[in-house]
Amino acid sequence: MADSTTPRTIVSACLAGIFCRYDGSTRANAKVVNLIRRGEALPVCPEQLGGLPTPRPPCERRGDRVLNSEGCDVTAPFARGAEEALRLARLAGCTRAVLQSRSPSCGLGRIHDGSFRGRLVDGNGVFAALLLENGFTVLTEDDL
Ligand code: SF4
Repeated sequence: MADSTTPRTIVSACLAGIFCRYDGSTRANAKVVNLIRRGEALPVCPEQLGGLPTPRPPCERRGDRVLNSEGCDVTAPFARGAEEALRLARLAGCTRAVLQSRSPSCGLGRIHDGSFRGRLVDGNGVFAALLLENGFTVLTEDDL
């Protein structure tokens, strides 16, 4: 069980089995689900917290902006959702995050390049970048 010495972890909700991905699917990860069962982790979906619907068109970062596949600029809801998820992480006393790879919100190190052609570039999702700026330790599900 979690105690005062256990680092609390914020996790991408889709890794926890929540059907919050852009296409209404999940990416349940057994290790992440176990963290939650042990009371050590809190699931959040920054895109939903930013007010975006599920399902929603796929989105990718292009420079400082985030666009969806229909060409709409969704930078503002992405930023709002990242701030709200950070607020929740702080309220829960989290110091670490385990996030879904390659997402425009949660991706760490490598994300899609904004062309919607499956290409990856170096970079972080909006939420992952905000957590790093605020001193969190950020991992992906592959690091567990
Ligand atoms: S924003 Fe993060 S938590 Fe939400 S579906 Fe995308 S990868 Fe999962």
